Amino acid sequence: MQKKKMKKKADWLTKAKKRKAKKKDRGIVDVIMLMRHFFKELPQWLDEMTDPRNLSYIIYTQSDLVLMGILKNMCAVKSMRSMEETFNEQQCIDTLRLLFGDQSLMEMPHADTLNYYLERLSPACLANVRKKMVKSLIRKKSFYRSKLLGKYWRIIIDGTGLFYFREKHCKNCLVTTITREEDGKEVKLKRYYHKVLEAKLVLAPGIIISLDTEFIENENEDVSKNDCELNAAKRLLERLSRDYPRRPICLQGDALYAAEPVMKICRGHGWKYILTQKASRQKVLSESYDWIAEGGGAETVEGIGKEGGSGEYINHVEKTAGKEEEANMYRYWYETGEANKKEAHEFQWITNIELSKKNLDEMIEAGRGRWKIENEGFNNQKNGIYDIEHLNSRDSNAMKNHYLITQIADIIMQIYLSFSTLRKEIGQSIKNTSSRLLESFRSHTVTDEDVSYITRYTTVYLE
Ligand SMILES: [Zn+2]
Repeated sequence: MQKKKMKKKADWLTKAKKRKAKKKDRGIVDVIMLMRHFFKELPQWLDEMTDPRNLSYIIYTQSDLVLMGILKNMCAVKSMRSMEETFNEQQCIDTLRLLFGDQSLMEMPHADTLNYYLERLSPACLANVRKKMVKSLIRKKSFYRSKLLGKYWRIIIDGTGLFYFREKHCKNCLVTTITREEDGKEVKLKRYYHKVLEAKLVLAPGIIISLDTEFIENENEDVSKNDCELNAAKRLLERLSRDYPRRPICLQGDALYAAEPVMKICRGHGWKYILTQKASRQKVLSESYDWIAEGGGAETVEGIGKEGGSGEYINHVEKTAGKEEEANMYRYWYETGEANKKEAHEFQWITNIELSKKNLDEMIEAGRGRWKIENEGFNNQKNGIYDIEHLNSRDSNAMKNHYLITQIADIIMQIYLSFSTLRKEIGQSIKNTSSRLLESFRSHTVTDEDVSYITRYTTVYLE
């Protein structure tokens, strides 16, 4: 009885709190405010891109088109057709005109107009705009707290499949052969697909943004071997070193990247790495580690990590293994479940950060965080609000640009999510936050007063 009453009161409190929080939520106005605060020059950066269109027929500016695409993603509008329908509101047109400075904007651009443009725009242009956004975020001191060991920016690389086709889709498609049984006979069939490699930057525990993208694709149809994640990683890492010179970086990745070429690139740029270790990937290192540990040469720390498990490490295993690249290795394990049904969990990593009893806890957290970020990252983008696997255009150039627009939108969305009072106070889901944003974009008339309020805003608190 007592319990029931308590619950009722809690419900009532939550409802009142919810109503109050909803009143404070300003949807599109908050988004515009945050964009102005963090990326004031975004419309200008977009308009400065090399315009691929015939300039005498232009109605829309580049920022009109791309910003519409960004809002499509943030408002979780799935297809290009429904974007045209959904955004065809006077309020949407007014908002874009008022806030992004194109006074001549009279109608929302058609979906075909956006696709025509994205088929021609060089993806390097959008990648460059994202770079400017990331750099302006890094410059803000507000994100320094999340650096590893107080020093290193954590960069996580991970690949995923994006599109799969039964028929050849373009000359850059990756190709695989599958075997299938048809009428009792084995038939070999070719399948075509596109993959992407992402470098994510951890800005804050809840803000993990797209730093760079490398499309995994074949140069032409005649290549004998498919492009692969590891080759794409080499291209991506070289570019990162050029784009972000002298930044203290710690690269993280799964066992696929625990390979000497990757470690060598890191050494060349003075970067640190934490890579997942699997015996199947680094056999000699693994054997050497076990051998040293059996002889009592490993340091151990008990009651460590979130689960209070066991930690163990050995520095410079590469010397025993006769390897060139620095390999300090560490393990973490813990058990869950009842005494008769114990389940063991174990993790192991390779790093070129010197391990100590003092930093082991943070190193374990960093290693495990990588896995969580990867899982949530692509999952959110595939099954959450963006649906990156949805084909907005069959054109392979437009496909890349749509993907990059999603990554840019995600940067703004993550900042909005961590700012949103509804998220913070009542734990509103990402999907609901996104639909409320759409609602306000469609119905809110952003006034001059809103704009002046925005310009007066000086401090933005995140997290
Ligand atoms: Zn293709």
